[in-house]
Amino acid sequence: MAENFDIALSDAIDDAMVRAERLFTELEDKTKDGPGVTRVAWGEGEQIGHDMCEAWAKEMGLEISVDVAGNLYMTLPGKNREAPVFITGSHMDTVPCGGNYDGAAGVVSGLAVIQAFLAADILPEQDTLVMAIRAEEGGSWFSGRHGGHLGSRAVLGRLWKEELHTAYHNHFEKSAYEVIKDAGFDPDAIANEPRYLDPKRIKGYCELHIEQGPILLAEGKSVGVVTGIRGNRRVRDGKVYGEYNHGGATPQSYRKDAVLAASEFLNRFEEVGLQKLADGKDLVFNPGILHTDPNVNGLSKVCGEVDFTLDMRSEEVDTLEAMKSAAEDIATEISECRGVTIDLGEFSASSPTILHKDEQQRMHAGCQALGIDAIAMASGGGHDAAEFQHEGVPSSMVFIRNDKGSHNPDEAMTMEDFCDGTKVLAWMMATA
Ligand SMILES: [Zn+2]
Repeated sequence: MAENFDIALSDAIDDAMVRAERLFTELEDKTKDGPGVTRVAWGEGEQIGHDMCEAWAKEMGLEISVDVAGNLYMTLPGKNREAPVFITGSHMDTVPCGGNYDGAAGVVSGLAVIQAFLAADILPEQDTLVMAIRAEEGGSWFSGRHGGHLGSRAVLGRLWKEELHTAYHNHFEKSAYEVIKDAGFDPDAIANEPRYLDPKRIKGYCELHIEQGPILLAEGKSVGVVTGIRGNRRVRDGKVYGEYNHGGATPQSYRKDAVLAASEFLNRFEEVGLQKLADGKDLVFNPGILHTDPNVNGLSKVCGEVDFTLDMRSEEVDTLEAMKSAAEDIATEISECRGVTIDLGEFSASSPTILHKDEQQRMHAGCQALGIDAIAMASGGGHDAAEFQHEGVPSSMVFIRNDKGSHNPDEAMTMEDFCDGTKVLAWMMATA
């Protein structure tokens, strides 16, 4: 084992689980909302989470600071205070009526590691910051024009001009600018230059998060090493235009059936996608919306119009681009063959993020040293880690097995698996 990681530290992490579990339980009690929990971005529930983390950090004597956007930093001073810092953290907001662990697990694990460092007399060379990040669930809380992950992007210099005004908070019915001001922070001081966090002053960022899919459970592993965060190409407003006609009187060869054209389009898209998977590419896809207008169409009519969406995600830009081209080619062919028009509209796009390769290697080495049998896996959902990686901070993520997905009240992580993941995080923090 590396010199900073010994049995004493491993035992100290086991001990820290008691305090961590207490925080999870109290946090759930205080932010309960029907069957789930609700911690509104820059709202009451999120602040309760920040306050509880801060209370634990103060018990441990950590330095506390809050930035202009309300992100909280709990700092264990290192031996050399001038050295670039190591950051761990995640977000304390949830989606409406979500689960207790998505986000919070990453902040609580960081504090558990610090408690174990103190108990085992381990002091890293550089400062270690546990960061509770604001408003990661931007897609749920905000509509209007924005790029998500508002808390981390606000301090990494990644906000677009005017974004604080165009992002509209659905719960408070105000702009992000007003919501941040109301929460007691300083939106006027949020600027891309100079940014609050200087990537050159950050040695690394590591985020622990529950897995949001079923892979670790199916594979029987407690921990996953995340390779990257998938990007996407999306058809947000797809249309198939055919021709409404009499379902009995129109011979089959005269029809321009929009439903049959849409079905063929999706089936052929699936065939191409499955071939990509067979070729070893990373890809997931789904048509989320597919409907006709029941006020216009009916049982005895040939359908003239279908609305649909199509979401495709991959870690690989070339796979995303190939699938986009395939969708366009298939749409053109079917349109010609069937005499319909398949209009895919404008694709929206987000880039995949490949997490730092050396940090992934370091994490695998840690898992091996700890006797934890981990697998490498992609993340389907977005995370703040992507924002750090995009700014050149060597970034990594550890996933924890979690039953029943996330963004719902039933997400289920065991404290045993959380303990395994926290040990992996401790390795990353101790050997940085
Ligand atoms: Zn999350």
